[in-house]
Amino acid sequence: MQLDLSIWSHAIFLIGEITLVVIFGIFFFALFLVGLSIYSISTGRVYFPRFLKAGMMLVEGLAKSLFRFFGLEDCEVQTFFINLQNTMNKKSFSEVPVTERAVFFPQCLRSSSCPAHLSPEGLKCKSCGACPIGFWGKVLEKMGYRVFIVPGSSFIKRMVKKYHPRAILGIGCLSEVKEGLEMADKIGLVAMGVVTLKDGCVETLVAWDLVMEVASLGLSPEDIPPEIKEISS
Ligand code: SF4
Repeated sequence: MQLDLSIWSHAIFLIGEITLVVIFGIFFFALFLVGLSIYSISTGRVYFPRFLKAGMMLVEGLAKSLFRFFGLEDCEVQTFFINLQNTMNKKSFSEVPVTERAVFFPQCLRSSSCPAHLSPEGLKCKSCGACPIGFWGKVLEKMGYRVFIVPGSSFIKRMVKKYHPRAILGIGCLSEVKEGLEMADKIGLVAMGVVTLKDGCVETLVAWDLVMEVASLGLSPEDIPPEIKEISS
């Protein structure tokens, strides 16, 4: 009987030890990932993106708490994750022919006097000249892109189901782009995101040179439209 108790107490002690090792292991692993992320944010370069992404998926909740503990704002963390995702997807995006890519603009980028009407495929731009979507949308279409102006993510899902693009470029506010990239990741779609410069429901802004730079990924210099070369120079 005494022997049995001793075996049990040893077993419980061992389980306790293993639990502690696992807890400390997870904690230090998350700490390492957060440290690597903060270093990446401070240098503006994403180190070991695949390792970071896989690790963050395992310890997401704890990592978020640690980011807060180290004084990082949620928006800084979201921006970092978008950069991480973009860094990982850049090569695959470049390899998809432009004719198999789609670009999604949020409706908030339009002018408040936009005359476009909502259709089952989003807003149909009339190229009225009141906002830059008309101009850049045409340039993108000439390049081979399918261009959509959408009021919400449900339109993106519907258009992806209908047209089966192999890669998408999404423009939106931080949370929209982050959600969009995660959604694309889940369904195995290559996605790149560009965050708007100003949040809001109307007349938001985006760095068009950056949008066009991403849109031109993988194109040979002679295939890049002069409008894009001009804006990038
Ligand atoms: S250019 Fe197109 S999207 Fe912009 S305001 Fe005019 S119709 Fe609307």
